[in-house]
Amino acid sequence: MKTTDICGGEAVPALGQGTWMMGERRDRRAAEIAALRTGIELGMTLIDTAEMYGEGEAERLVGEAVAGRRDGLFLVSKAYPQNASRDRLPRACEASLRRLGTDHIDLYLLHWRGAVPLAETVEAMEALKAAGRIRHWGVSNLDVGDMAELVEAGGGGCAANQILYNLSRRGAEYALMPWLADHGMAVMAYSPVEQGRLLGNATLKAVAARRGVTPAQVALAWLLRRPGVIAIPKAGSADHVRENRAAADLDLVADDLAELDRAFPAPTRQRPLEML
Ligand code: NDP
Repeated sequence: MKTTDICGGEAVPALGQGTWMMGERRDRRAAEIAALRTGIELGMTLIDTAEMYGEGEAERLVGEAVAGRRDGLFLVSKAYPQNASRDRLPRACEASLRRLGTDHIDLYLLHWRGAVPLAETVEAMEALKAAGRIRHWGVSNLDVGDMAELVEAGGGGCAANQILYNLSRRGAEYALMPWLADHGMAVMAYSPVEQGRLLGNATLKAVAARRGVTPAQVALAWLLRRPGVIAIPKAGSADHVRENRAAADLDLVADDLAELDRAFPAPTRQRPLEML
């Protein structure tokens, strides 16, 4: 499995697994757990979740899926902005740890920026790290101006920024991604297949047909070719997980990339970061 360095040293799989909308339906639970376990077996050992997803139900599902196989996994969770304060972050983290059934989170993110000053969130994250409850911390949905403020506020230890990034959402390439690369912070690309909406695109289908793969695999391989990017597709079935895993072994060639660039042009000016 291709890897990406987090915090200038630790290699994590560049292809992980998302969990938004998981754990919310009893009739899908067994398939979702099987999907996550299949992914783990195939090396997609980075799992992304959040206290927000199903108000804790996604974390509970992840806890069940990883029970007895926690070693070697890289678990990512996120705190609501209103919980990112000195007083509340430790409690939110403990609740996530309980639901995940683990004694540490590998990467704990501020889900998006809210009213709590960034300096206070940095202090709270660093305290959790010192206490061993988290191994790294990062942010999500922060644009380049917010990132500069974060570093000003003492947040140079931020390991990653999780952002909306896929073929149809390339805005971050203009300023945010170069900034993150300069600061040694990883990009976690969420909604890598645009929640499925990308998959009917004619160009994506044409490239996929030419290469004998699926549109999802092309969309994921396009993300994975960039250094410093981790893609976290959510798949609710083991079949989709297997298909996504194979994307990590697909090398897009110059013709594929040129065709995709024509259909999904790179940004030519800075725009505000989009989010879902
Ligand atoms: P994705 O782009 O990962 O799309 C998920 C959808 O694509 C599901 O409907 C899934 O169907 C389908 N899918 C997955 N693989 C395939 C495949 N091989 N073929 C066909 N369909 C496929 O969207 P998400 O919004 O879920 O993003 C991924 C993860 O990123 C989230 O789950 C979450 O962990 C994180 N995220 C973070 C956000 C943030 O603010 N930080 C915001 C949004 C997401 P099925 O389930 O049936 O397999």
